[in-house]
Amino acid sequence: MNTTAIFAPYIITMNDDCPVLENHAVIIKGREIWDILPFDLAKNIEVNQTLNLDNHALMPGLINLHGHSAMTLLRGYADDLALMDWLNNHIWPAEGKNVSDAFVYDGTLLAMAEMILGGTTTINDMYFFNAAVAKAGLLSGMRTFVGCTILEFPNAYAQNADEYIAKGLNEQVPFYGDDLIRFVLAPHAPYTVSNATFSKVLDLAEKYDMLIHCHIHETQDEISGSVKEYNQRPIARLNQLGVINSRLIAAHGVHLTDEEITLFAEKGASVAHNPASNMKLASGFAPVVNMLQNGVNVGLGTDGAASNNKLDMFAEMRLAALIAKGHSGNPTDLTAYETLKMATVNGAKALHLDDKIGRLKKGMRADMIAVDLSDIATQPLFDPISHIVYAVDRSQVCFVWVNGEMLLNNRQFTRVDLNEIRAKARFWQNRIQEK
Ligand SMILES: [Zn+2]
Repeated sequence: MNTTAIFAPYIITMNDDCPVLENHAVIIKGREIWDILPFDLAKNIEVNQTLNLDNHALMPGLINLHGHSAMTLLRGYADDLALMDWLNNHIWPAEGKNVSDAFVYDGTLLAMAEMILGGTTTINDMYFFNAAVAKAGLLSGMRTFVGCTILEFPNAYAQNADEYIAKGLNEQVPFYGDDLIRFVLAPHAPYTVSNATFSKVLDLAEKYDMLIHCHIHETQDEISGSVKEYNQRPIARLNQLGVINSRLIAAHGVHLTDEEITLFAEKGASVAHNPASNMKLASGFAPVVNMLQNGVNVGLGTDGAASNNKLDMFAEMRLAALIAKGHSGNPTDLTAYETLKMATVNGAKALHLDDKIGRLKKGMRADMIAVDLSDIATQPLFDPISHIVYAVDRSQVCFVWVNGEMLLNNRQFTRVDLNEIRAKARFWQNRIQEK
């Protein structure tokens, strides 16, 4: 079995008892972390390769808990609009004309290249043409949660909710047992999915042990619409249907009452916080600190590149921490460590993989990144976790491993060809611009 020893001045483990180790080496054996040892002990371990990183922090790969990778092909296509105008009059028509197996494969690969370059090793995605998303995940080497979107209305992928569900389940068959690919049921949102469909999704999630990924309480409009139509807020409606449970990853969760936060904590449901997208679409300020203080598991996501417009988890961490403080008026809110936890440990917990990823620990999967801290913008260096959240730019990510395999070697991809990805992006730009 292949073994590698990586020596680094800082190992950010994210284990609460000792979050940062100095002058240690991570020993990778196959896809796992075999051990983490001080330099003098690590030197005696026989390995196939050794990597000496003089200025780097080794840390868990970042977990992007909410995205629509293929929408990267619509980056910058329609900006500065309100959510429903943006969706109804711009994004959905453009998707209607262009979305296909090839669009999704090329767009997802583009997103994955950007994410890997920026230190993201896991994506919890939500889109259509699910096999294309899974194939892009296999090619790029990213750990991919393939959210099979379910809607009541037709698009290029399916005609109605039953067809979205049937196609999604069918498309996962060839990927069964692949360690990097996991399919997820993704009813799009309470305003696009009926009670009957939510009930079906819940039954299937239990039958096949799948997660549920859904946009919930993203805007105030969504809530007023639900009160008009169902005489209930969406979360009350979903709770009656049994959907608020530990399988649920609720994207956004911007407008939550104290009772709804308590409900999420009691039921063990997770929230994917998307600070940049919430700001760009003016959806509002998610009560992240209140959620965390009350025991809700909150991870961090970028949302799609059409509403961000970057897939940059370092930018997302910095923004999350700054918004929380600026909004509450309390600078002790959302510390650097709590913020980094959202992008690692909490994301892993939401994905039910906290025994395998999100921390660096003996026996866990080697999903790791190395960040060069010698950059002038990260000097001097008192506290590596402070720099990771507040000062590091994603371009400082030099090495990326998923399941022990190196995907980025000194900022060079080992698997994907960036020129090919660029050419595909230009091809789709021309197609989308054709009237
Ligand atoms: Zn979204």
